[in-house]
Amino acid sequence: MTTPPCYACGKEARFDELPPRERIAFDQYWRVAHSFNTAVPGWLVLLPRRHVTAVHDLTDAEAGALGLW
Ligand SMILES: [Zn+2]
Repeated sequence: MTTPPCYACGKEARFDELPPRERIAFDQYWRVAHSFNTAVPGWLVLLPRRHVTAVHDLTDAEAGALGLW
């Protein structure tokens, strides 16, 4: 748990209850969700499925899966 709470991780903790817009596609490392408050309707974001704040914090498996996305 982070302080303040991390929005993305809060969503991830409820993964099985998320509406389709919050898990458009996913694998064990990444989740695609609609972004809100953007200038472009339908903007999607790719989110890590654990708390990561920088690319260099990704594991080799996470980084490899990111390349496939
Ligand atoms: Zn987080």
